[in-house]
Amino acid sequence: MSAVTRRQFLAAAGLAAAGPVLANAATDPDFDVIIIGAGAAGISAARRIAQSGKTFAVLEASDHWGGRCFTDLKTFGVPYDRGALWVHETEAFPVDQLASKAGLETYKEPSTQRLRIAMPPDPRLRVPTRKARVSELEEFYSKLVSCNQAIASAGPSDISCASALPKDIGDWRPTMEFVLGPFLCGSDLSAMSANEYALWVKPENTVRVRRGVGTLMGRLALGAPMRFFSPINRIEWGSRLVQVETRGERMTARAVILTASTAVLASGKIEFRPSLPVHFAQAIDKLTLGSLDRVAIEFNGNPLGVQSDELIFEKAVGRQTAALHANFLGSRLCLVQVGGKMCADLALEGEAALNDFAINWLVSQFGSDLRNSIERTHATRWSKDPWTLGAFSTAVPGGQSARKVLSKPLGDQVWFAGEAVHESLWGAVAGAWEIGERAANDVISRIRK
Ligand SMILES: Cc1cc2nc3c(=O)[nH]c(=O)nc-3n(C[C@H](O)[C@H](O)[C@H](O)COP(=O)(O)OP(=O)(O)OC[C@H]3O[C@@H](n4cnc5c(N)ncnc54)[C@H](O)[C@@H]3O)c2cc1C
Repeated sequence: MSAVTRRQFLAAAGLAAAGPVLANAATDPDFDVIIIGAGAAGISAARRIAQSGKTFAVLEASDHWGGRCFTDLKTFGVPYDRGALWVHETEAFPVDQLASKAGLETYKEPSTQRLRIAMPPDPRLRVPTRKARVSELEEFYSKLVSCNQAIASAGPSDISCASALPKDIGDWRPTMEFVLGPFLCGSDLSAMSANEYALWVKPENTVRVRRGVGTLMGRLALGAPMRFFSPINRIEWGSRLVQVETRGERMTARAVILTASTAVLASGKIEFRPSLPVHFAQAIDKLTLGSLDRVAIEFNGNPLGVQSDELIFEKAVGRQTAALHANFLGSRLCLVQVGGKMCADLALEGEAALNDFAINWLVSQFGSDLRNSIERTHATRWSKDPWTLGAFSTAVPGGQSARKVLSKPLGDQVWFAGEAVHESLWGAVAGAWEIGERAANDVISRIRK
């Protein structure tokens, strides 16, 4: 969608009849609520505000909705989720129901309660050039459970997740560190708080959306007054109305819901006037965004000889490891997922470095013949996306309470929303959705007064 003029935008928002909106800026706001960002949190906030009958607008910096839920339908001709892939079904985010109302097909992954980690079906393992034997696979699962429990029970002392791992895991350590850290959380375990890991809720059901999670977000956003290519670079708060600025244009509202990632907030791309109180700024710094990227490889045929939608790890010997989502949704697309510091370094080098790593990693397990079957590749680089700057938030050791700080509005005018604010479903679409709705409810009740 191309940028629209202010008049077209106001018309789309049903506000053209309000006339020269800025003429009365001292008394009348342009909108009751301005929502910054059209990701999961922004869309759920928009849907709730729309129900209340308040006037509002969604201002999005990029050219698309969904934020970190982004389905690329063009590159390979099949839905390719560059961001969120498996979504949790919760009371606040009944994804199955929402998708079905939006005309989209979903399917539920069998529960992985056995492993007690937020992961779709039981993964497979390679050791390293062959399939793991049943005994090896069982050992892998039991180590996962014991490492997960060890981190959870270390929680109250709030050490790093890495230092909470059991001492007796021997040569499974690199595998455990990868699966629980870079793969699941996009961060190395040494950089993550055990306290917040302990509070992390792992809902029972994970759901896949056949046409992609980004497609679902687009359908759920339909009808919301939304403007793309509108990066907010300044928020002035503390007076009767909040004023936001995008590309030299100013708009006012009674309240703002701000859903930008903590990395965007920490980058200084949005100037606050007056400056953010110190405890907000410190909280943002403690919720760092990790790195998680996918290299999508389209094969001619099935040279890996694996089944559709298998999730495969290797018994790793060091940090240079990855996970494979094979033959994604029955297609010829395989996704190699990397994460953590290693992923951030590769992303900094460029897409070619990510591609090379992923292909070499596959070759090391399945043999070099697969190179002849590669048709096309694409690698995400979320840490280079200017309006995300990373994958999702994890609290540094000692930083768990930061999420609570961000859940309080700034001067009763600016509500932080988005995955980073959720205390137990951070990093998840379901968490972002719930927080967006919660912020909208707060705003509605405040405006009523
Ligand atoms: C590779 C990857 C895999 C993932 N896998 C899963 C998964 O399988 N399951 C799961 O539940 N979660 C997953 N996640 C996490 C999930 O995608 C996010 O937690 C969730 O989508 C965040 O939603 P949000 O609304 O908080 O933020 P965002 O989606 O980041 O939305 C914020 C929006 O604000 C916009 N914005 C930023 N700054 C400005 C500004 N100054 N002005 C205007 N607009 C601005 C951004 O462009 C963006 O659209 C994954 C994430 C990544 C990166």
